[in-house]
Amino acid sequence: METREYQAVVIGAGPGGYPAAIRLGQLGIKTAIIEREYIGGVCLNVGCIPSKALISAGKKYSELSTLSELGISIPGEASLDMGKLQEWKGGIVKKLTGGVGTLLKANKVDTIMGTAEIPEPGQVKVTTADGEILIKAQHIVIATGSRPIEIPGFAYADDRIMDSTKALDLDHVPEDLVVIGGGYIGLELGTMLAKVGSKVTVVEMQDQVLPGFDPDVIKVLARKLKKNGVDVLLNTRALGWEEGDTKAVVNVETPKGPRALPADRILITVGRRPNSEWVKNLGLEQERGHIVVDKQLKTSIPGIYAIGDVATGIMLAHKATHEGEIVAEVIAGHNAHNDARTIPAVVFTDPEIATAGLQEHEARAAGYELKVGKFPFAVSGRAMSQRATDGFTKVILDAADD
Ligand code: FAD
Repeated sequence: METREYQAVVIGAGPGGYPAAIRLGQLGIKTAIIEREYIGGVCLNVGCIPSKALISAGKKYSELSTLSELGISIPGEASLDMGKLQEWKGGIVKKLTGGVGTLLKANKVDTIMGTAEIPEPGQVKVTTADGEILIKAQHIVIATGSRPIEIPGFAYADDRIMDSTKALDLDHVPEDLVVIGGGYIGLELGTMLAKVGSKVTVVEMQDQVLPGFDPDVIKVLARKLKKNGVDVLLNTRALGWEEGDTKAVVNVETPKGPRALPADRILITVGRRPNSEWVKNLGLEQERGHIVVDKQLKTSIPGIYAIGDVATGIMLAHKATHEGEIVAEVIAGHNAHNDARTIPAVVFTDPEIATAGLQEHEARAAGYELKVGKFPFAVSGRAMSQRATDGFTKVILDAADD
């Protein structure tokens, strides 16, 4: 088996792994990055970027029919060519992932396409198309991300059933779409498809969509989902599905009793699971599958670090990137550490939602005395000029010291 030596090895080339490797390269540390599927990870290939491209297209398409209010008229009827839209989306992904490859090279990082294992600390075995490579490295960064959770009875292998990856690749607009799981991914994709003509029903087990978000925000969102033609069934459990005459039928248990929902496609967005099973042999400390890390992204084994979705903390791309930059500094011996108190989170629904720091209900639950400032977009000139008057800005302050 070929053997190579590096100072650091990063496993996974997503928004956590590739910035870590680039920064390590910039800091003069001999680094390799291992990736089994696609440079850019979930975010660039089948996550943030393609979803935002489609969402942007859906928004523009749905606005067309309302532009006459601004004195803009469009001759004829608007139509959507999904093939062309997918081609455009693919072009963006290609440009970005190509750019990452170039940056890795420019910063003297060796990219190895293959699947990694860690037989023991200090060693990484990579299975590539051309055989196996054994890499020795003092520092190993695990950045292997996450994947969609599958639920019993709704196998992704079936044509009717989609995870987010399949939904991002649709070659047509499904007439009836049932989304199981009212988290941000389901709502973003569901809203997009509703805007281009799908009849969308979201099934959510809890008593609000986006569980954990400020109830004031949810009120605005719920109103707008309805306006956009998205039906939301709360406190509702999906029991299973079967083939009907022309469509599938999703059986659900609502608080008012059982219902059968017609569906051409069923999108499952009940959450994501960390890709951590492959390091089971190491006995790293884990919490619900996420590798436990400290503020310097160190795991329970010296010389092994974890960042991004596979590590503990919120599962967002910019969190992964920030941790990638911190871990590189730590490996270089600098006194860097992570501070997770005010990580922003954005949901690209209609309206878009953004938060940073504790939300009002979280701050109250934590025992803070608060001052709350709230300003409605309905009276904002900028919002009016954008025709985006749904929603508000809320600022919360610790009453003790503002
Ligand atoms: P990943 O991006 O998952 O990358 C991990 C990489 O590791 C993968 O390329 C994988 O192939 C590779 N890998 C795994 N195991 C091995 C192995 N053994 N050997 C070699 N390689 C391996 N986040 C946001 O912040 N904003 C958004 O708007 C947003 N939108 C999203 C929309 C969708 C539809 C989805 C699915 C996700 C979205 N996310 C968004 C979440 C975001 O994609 C993730 O938080 C982010 O990709 C995590 O980065 P990561 O580097 O930890 O892992």
